[in-house]
Amino acid sequence: MNQVLDLFRLDGKVAVVTGASSGLGAGFALALAQAGADVVLAARRVDRLRDTEKQVAETGRRALTVAADVSDPEQCEAVAEQAVAALGRIDILVNNAGVGTAIPALREPPGEFRRVIDVNLNGAYWAAQACARRMEPGSSIVNIASVLGLIKSYAPQAAYAASKAGLIGLTRDLSQQWSGRRGIRVNAIAPGYFASEMTAEIPEDQLLTFVRQTSTLGRLGVQHELDAAVVFLASPASSYITGTTLAVDGGMSGH
Ligand code: NAP
Repeated sequence: MNQVLDLFRLDGKVAVVTGASSGLGAGFALALAQAGADVVLAARRVDRLRDTEKQVAETGRRALTVAADVSDPEQCEAVAEQAVAALGRIDILVNNAGVGTAIPALREPPGEFRRVIDVNLNGAYWAAQACARRMEPGSSIVNIASVLGLIKSYAPQAAYAASKAGLIGLTRDLSQQWSGRRGIRVNAIAPGYFASEMTAEIPEDQLLTFVRQTSTLGRLGVQHELDAAVVFLASPASSYITGTTLAVDGGMSGH
């Protein structure tokens, strides 16, 4: 038996993944299932969640699809309630749901700024509250922030950058409130640039040039490089880590 690898196993645990209908979130749900967890899949597009559900089922783990808009606290509460009703517990929350935007600040309408903060920051808080109310000691929350919460963007992204910097601050505070007292660790991941529906909106040559010029590794990240970080922070392998933000960005924020 390989004891250190056993620390990464998630057998018998239940993970909630928001934004599991596409991109990175669908990958995280599959990775958590491969590590042994049953997974609750939350997002707005149920047809796309069903695709993720099928992939999770192929690992032999259970999957539960719940339609939810994370910007609504009551819908986050319903996700947590249904997770416990169907799968018995919540050990892991991956706050991954997010929207991107790039509008020059002098032209950005209030509604657009609010929409991004509402999903990326407020939504993560509502989901964390709903899940933490039901979590036992030993649980873990992983917030998917962004390198743009740490360093400047090449595009006008006030709302996105503010939401992700806010999520890093939220991570620090929830960690200090919940880790010692309730045994719930709270950490964040700051991804660099990965292929997804969100980054598909950026012209490819522009994106590759930017990544080549600003990151040490000079390339986009690959899904499994983030999956490993999510499983690490979700699992007992990171039991002495809380309140931190792990940059998975090819060295971009280290410049
Ligand atoms: P994506 O493919 O566009 O996925 C975004 C996910 O968020 C979708 O599943 C979407 O599902 C969900 N979502 C959006 N609004 C929602 C809402 N109101 N309620 C519930 N779910 C909602 O983009 P992605 O790149 O995988 O992004 C995933 C996360 O990684 C985001 O937080 C993003 O900011 C972060 N990130 C991505 C990169 C990158 O390079 N790709 C880099 C840094 C950080 P529905 O539309 O079905 O609701």
